[in-house]
Amino acid sequence: MQKSANTLGVGNEMYSLIEDMFPICRSITGDGVRKTLEIINKIIPLQVHEVPSGTKVFDWEIPKEWSIREAYIKNSKGEKIVDFSNSNLHVLNYSAPIHAKVSLEELKSHLFYLPEHPEWIPYRTSYYKEDWGFCISYNQFLDLTDDIYEVFIDSSLQPGSLTYGEYYIPGATTDEVLISTHICHPSLANDNLSGISVAAFLAHHLSQLNLRYSYRFVFIPGTIGAIAWLSINENKVSRIKHGLVLSLLGDSGKFTYKKSRQDSAEIDRVTTHVLKSMNNENRIIDFIPYGYDERQYCSPGFNLPVGCLSRTTYGQYPEYHTSADNLDLIEPFCLEESLSVTKEIVLKLENSKKFVNLNPKCEPQLGKRGLYNLRGGNNDHKEFQMALLWVLSFSDGKHTLLDIQTRSKLNLQLIEEAAERLLEVGLIAEII
Ligand code: ZN
Repeated sequence: MQKSANTLGVGNEMYSLIEDMFPICRSITGDGVRKTLEIINKIIPLQVHEVPSGTKVFDWEIPKEWSIREAYIKNSKGEKIVDFSNSNLHVLNYSAPIHAKVSLEELKSHLFYLPEHPEWIPYRTSYYKEDWGFCISYNQFLDLTDDIYEVFIDSSLQPGSLTYGEYYIPGATTDEVLISTHICHPSLANDNLSGISVAAFLAHHLSQLNLRYSYRFVFIPGTIGAIAWLSINENKVSRIKHGLVLSLLGDSGKFTYKKSRQDSAEIDRVTTHVLKSMNNENRIIDFIPYGYDERQYCSPGFNLPVGCLSRTTYGQYPEYHTSADNLDLIEPFCLEESLSVTKEIVLKLENSKKFVNLNPKCEPQLGKRGLYNLRGGNNDHKEFQMALLWVLSFSDGKHTLLDIQTRSKLNLQLIEEAAERLLEVGLIAEII
């Protein structure tokens, strides 16, 4: 992974998009999400959906909309010792409004901090239990004295809506690839402005191509957004043939792919191939029912072929869910590399073909079709001959060329070339 001049073009644009989104206070509802979608809209034209508070979505309900304008803690001298305008992480996300004078002891029961990282502010939420609170650095906590504090959170929880954005790129078929990313975290860069940026730039790239699949990008608040989207689109999800949740893609860690619940869906096989052929240290992990929105897409009632692509995974880097997940943690060249990986996965899906052998009873005679001794070098010739035999043997309408490559351990390009020649001479036919 080297920084070089030609890798910094798109990477810088991706980083700059993140810089624009970074200051916004986002949550699972509210204007922060709307403002974020407006910024993404500069890269791709989004369709914005509003789901009213109180709407039932499977076992859940869209909550009241949260807005926040100002928040602080003042000591008895009237000095602001914690101020939301310095960091939107200072307020417990979804905090109920409060304006009160409290003792140190009472204040402490509403504070969150990280003794192990005394400079950092933790990110905490309370979406489904009405509460108020502040997140502060441990150093700020240590400075608190026995005093009476004025706590003020100018927020509101009112009937409103949950907002999400969608972008659809029609392809030659109505079979869809779903790309989903969460947009609900406030000023945290890697989690998940990086995922948003990769998704937006991938969408922009794909919008310029002629595609076999249709692509649906969803920019949604985590958990409740995915549940709402699935509830609203339940009758359309059978079109989803492959899917990826994009998260945590801006740091310099190796890639991690978490497989779908199906375990060996085509997206699992393709992404495994792409990551492993790039770098053997990239990790492929089994599905677990925890993590990002793949949890919802892979719930047993849907069981969609959707995996999750990240670099260093959640909880595995110390800055996770703290103020240290900031613009310094992510790098333009890492964002660009993540984008390249997603493009490569899409390219593999687009080119993934299955064939059927039209002469399946015994081997066809290759010589009379000009398929013998096609290539110059002896070794090349032998390998190509093997590629022809592998493609003929596994063109049963079930195995993709990538599956044949995995099984034969031959080079994928050689397998593709062999299939092309067999197609030309009419020995195989593509399954659409
Ligand atoms: Zn998170």
